[in-house]
Amino acid sequence: MKLRTMRDIDVRGRRVFVRVDFNVPVDSGGNITDDTRIRAAVPTINYLVQKGARVILASHFGRPKGKPLAEFRLGKVGERLSEILGRSVKKMDDCIGDAVKNEIAEMKEGDIVLLENVRFHAGEEKNDEGFAKELASLADIYVNDAFGAAHRAHASTAGIAEYLPAVAGFLMEREVEALSSVVETPERPFVAVLGGAKVSDKIGVLENLAGKADVLVLGGGMANTFLRAHGYEMGKSLVEEDRLDEARRVMDKASSRGVSVLLPVDLVIAERVEEGAPKKVVEVPVRGQRATAVPEGWMALDIGPATRTKYAETIKSARTVFWNGPMGVFEVDAFAEGTLAVAKAIAESSAKSVVGGGDSIAAVEKAGVVHEIDHVSTGGGASLEFVEGRELPGIACLMEPITSKNS
Ligand code: ADP
Ligand code: MG
Repeated sequence: MKLRTMRDIDVRGRRVFVRVDFNVPVDSGGNITDDTRIRAAVPTINYLVQKGARVILASHFGRPKGKPLAEFRLGKVGERLSEILGRSVKKMDDCIGDAVKNEIAEMKEGDIVLLENVRFHAGEEKNDEGFAKELASLADIYVNDAFGAAHRAHASTAGIAEYLPAVAGFLMEREVEALSSVVETPERPFVAVLGGAKVSDKIGVLENLAGKADVLVLGGGMANTFLRAHGYEMGKSLVEEDRLDEARRVMDKASSRGVSVLLPVDLVIAERVEEGAPKKVVEVPVRGQRATAVPEGWMALDIGPATRTKYAETIKSARTVFWNGPMGVFEVDAFAEGTLAVAKAIAESSAKSVVGGGDSIAAVEKAGVVHEIDHVSTGGGASLEFVEGRELPGIACLMEPITSKNS
């Protein structure tokens, strides 16, 4: 099945409801600290403006839980968008109702209106039919460009598509293309690098990739649990004792499909997660020998130098690389080297590279290699659910043939 896109329809003069993801990070004063998500929607907005559509933008922002709360208003987002586009953006005080309808009735071709936070109405997160219909009544066409919210079945991300012809925006299209090219049709060898804190957060991703990748490269806290599952003592490292069976299941699945699983061969350990805390490198003993990888009172906080070299070589031999999850506690510089080494190896490799996950994106930024990566996903949770092989409601609703219950 193929995604329907804006190029499949005529938008001139039409009222186009565009669901974007303007859920940007803000500081305590409500100032936007990173406008990447706003910029990511610009190609779609500019295209619609140039085609003479009437552009109605909608987004969620924070968790107002169905009530209009001042701190979650989209005023500053509208101002920033207007600066970026170099044209005026009319910000509304609500996302439904008469005032909104009247304003839209006055719009000319190429005008842009930004609706107020859709989560000010409880019907949004409940995917309430009445609320979805209200939103749909504002427009002739629905464009979903909010990849970051695609794993949610909400009124503005999925429900509305029942009542309007629904197509994907350019960002949505790019995300789906990049992630599908990894999960569905990877050029081989396909190396999946997985790390981060916990096995339990990523079990679906691990299981799916254990059947799809050629090599699974594991690091971070997650690798501790895998090492523990092999019987190693891990000191006071982050280990999920209740997930050892799941780790073993992933390794069994991988081995039954001929997928190799790489675990750290050495680790950077310390007694405290602190800059300047004494640290050392320990080798992970060969299996079947001594069972202690990390001495009592110490914890594994990064992959060691030999592991970095081995992982970098594996990454460089790949044709496709997917990376999620840091190799260590990279927020602390003393334990960031493994993560930075992996980021650099991915940047230097000629493989098609896709990175997803909030902390993983921060790591790629910290390494200064964002522009060397083919695709850095804008959606944390959404990209992981995609890689798990799950159906995302915000994408599934763009796959169906264009129909409208109203017509
Ligand atoms: P992402 O957001 O990219 O999906 P995660 O949230 O799963 O990644 O993991 C990131 C977190 O994992 C970071 O806060 C990092 O400090 C932590 N982490 C990585 N390695 C370890 C480790 N060895 N011990 C404890 N925490 C770790
Ligand atoms: Mg995270």
